Amino acid sequence: VSTTEGLDLVVHGGTVVTMDAKRRVLVGDVLVRGGAIVGIGRVPSNTRARSLDARGCVVIPGFVQAHVHLCQALFRGMADDLPLMTWLRERIWPLEAAHDERSIAASARLGLHEMMRAGTTTILDMGTVREEDAVFGAMHESGIRGVSGKAMMDRGRGVPKGLRESTKDSLRESEALHARWSGAGRLDYAFAPRFILSCTEKLLRSTAEIAKNVGAIVHSHAAEHRGERDEVRAQFGGDDVDVLARFGIAGPRTVLAHGVQLTAAQMRACGKRGTRFVHCPSANLKLASGIADVVSMRAAGMIVGLGADGAPCNNRMDPLTELRSAALLAKGRRLDASVLPAMDALAMATIDGARVLGIDDRVGSIEIGKRADLAVIAIDEPHTEPGGDAVGRLVYGAAASDVRHVVIDGDVVVQHGEHRTLDRDHVVADARKQAKLLVARAGL
Ligand SMILES: [Zn+2]
Repeated sequence: VSTTEGLDLVVHGGTVVTMDAKRRVLVGDVLVRGGAIVGIGRVPSNTRARSLDARGCVVIPGFVQAHVHLCQALFRGMADDLPLMTWLRERIWPLEAAHDERSIAASARLGLHEMMRAGTTTILDMGTVREEDAVFGAMHESGIRGVSGKAMMDRGRGVPKGLRESTKDSLRESEALHARWSGAGRLDYAFAPRFILSCTEKLLRSTAEIAKNVGAIVHSHAAEHRGERDEVRAQFGGDDVDVLARFGIAGPRTVLAHGVQLTAAQMRACGKRGTRFVHCPSANLKLASGIADVVSMRAAGMIVGLGADGAPCNNRMDPLTELRSAALLAKGRRLDASVLPAMDALAMATIDGARVLGIDDRVGSIEIGKRADLAVIAIDEPHTEPGGDAVGRLVYGAAASDVRHVVIDGDVVVQHGEHRTLDRDHVVADARKQAKLLVARAGL
């Protein structure tokens, strides 16, 4: 460390799990200046910079949740124990159609509070068809690093009137939102055709072309549930990943959630093209979709991130739950305790999530020059003591309540477990009120 002059923040005395290429784990301080990481080492205790106490904790790059739905946080507990297509048609779509600006803002704040409080610093979010500006407004207010986009839906059985849009309007509105929010501070825009059954070929092809022209991500769902796969095969004569690729939705700027149904050949094709996938283990279990074979996906060269998906199919939006579940389920699925070791699971939740979003040059690891997106998580609680290395303690043992501090771009957004940009009591009270009004509007 050359100088402690002008430091904005020192994260002091933790075990730093860098997630750099060598996966180095160091004991020391993380030094932040101008929102960037400028050093990892030791600073004299008389430095005047603001300091966060990380003793007894790991300091990790903040979690990247590469597939979530902020607009659904308000539906938590309103769609339990239903299979995917019923879940969508009878609960999620009618509830989304009943959203107004206030309910969607309350929903987004509730989801953001939970995720950030649990160490999430970056999200890739899919909105509903309308009121997307309110999602971006809440993300901006919270201080999260976030990419979102309105859901695009111009066809589909069981889609309520409030969600159906014309192809032209879907494209026009998405382009306008992209122009408004792309590169606005920590925010960015991703085009989000919901899934192949809710989109016409024309919408998918046009979206691929527009996104390519402006360099934006296309974010969708694919290969999730068997019932859905059968509907796709009946309509298109093939599987969604193959059909989407034919329409131009494939490659490094395509992010697809799930991949439970992928065949070995499809994994190889996705690995070769660079198509990104996001593993959502809790949602796949709760909707009985199955267990994605992430070990084979990674072995096929695919870049795979992690995400909580929506609150009504999880019901948590907690990255630590997904981290632990991903690690355990991989072993259970392969009947091999050595697969997806703790460090690899943590990579999916951090640096690989950043690669999914194409921002690994800026975030995803603790390295000099990267933005200071950090989570400080206690590993000295009774449930993480006494054995094990720092990464094992974190992945297998730690819980959301162990998260002490969260930093985004050098800003402390959670301190001593308290969210500093979103008031907990207000967020909860507003969510309760808006949920009641929403259910009444939806007539459920
Ligand atoms: Zn989803």
